[in-house]
Amino acid sequence: MRKPLVAGNWKMNGSRDANSKLLSALQDGLGDLQAVQLAVCPPAVYLPEVIDTLSGSNIEVGGQDCSDEASGAYTGEIAGSMLTEIGCRCVIVGHSERRQRQNEDSAWVAAKFVAAQAAGLTPILCVGEQKEDREAGRTEAVVAEQLDAVLDAAGVEAFDRAVIAYEPVWAIGTGLTATPEQAQEVHAFIRNRVAGRDPRVAAELRILYGGSVKADNAAGLFGLADIDGGLIGGASLDADAFIAIARAAAESA
Ligand code: PEP
Repeated sequence: MRKPLVAGNWKMNGSRDANSKLLSALQDGLGDLQAVQLAVCPPAVYLPEVIDTLSGSNIEVGGQDCSDEASGAYTGEIAGSMLTEIGCRCVIVGHSERRQRQNEDSAWVAAKFVAAQAAGLTPILCVGEQKEDREAGRTEAVVAEQLDAVLDAAGVEAFDRAVIAYEPVWAIGTGLTATPEQAQEVHAFIRNRVAGRDPRVAAELRILYGGSVKADNAAGLFGLADIDGGLIGGASLDADAFIAIARAAAESA
């Protein structure tokens, strides 16, 4: 039985004041929820404060990225061990915004995945196709390339301690959501590809959907066989929306 996970990716949003209001509303609204695992991933500068605020709550905290290196002359980067040290449990790797803006390729993302696990973090590995890829019928080829790079670098058993987020790039922040059928099709493809290496790992692996998930479309997505929760961007900044999405995931459990 896979426990759903709903993780909020705050991206480059927030302020001390806004974070404090959001977290207090989330704690009030989510305090009793047990059937779903919850996490928020704020900008790095706010991590210590957010971790402190959420200590003792049922909401975990994660980073939005980490270095592929353990330490050294990498200006601006943050090592996985630093995230672990301050109390992070997970970290997003390979988000499409970084694949695009920072030119992170699949080999680099795979190295970040390995480094994150070495530091004791659960990587949330993002994969997903661009609009042109989907239109050209290349969705599975793109997702397979992104996934295989990590399977090859880390080994399939590493996915016992990882989560995948399928995020069609054309649905991120656009208001366009993959239909539940489109999402389920790719989620099943991902699970089958992992099963090709190890069926047990695949059966236990959580695969989240991300891309304009809102309160009103969450239940339709989370009800499907291979969708185990969501990675939530914009709606994670709105307490009522995030709470409704988390409740939809809990009901799908
Ligand atoms: C994301 O950034 O991971 C994401 C899914 O964003 P949004 O929900 O805003 O589409």
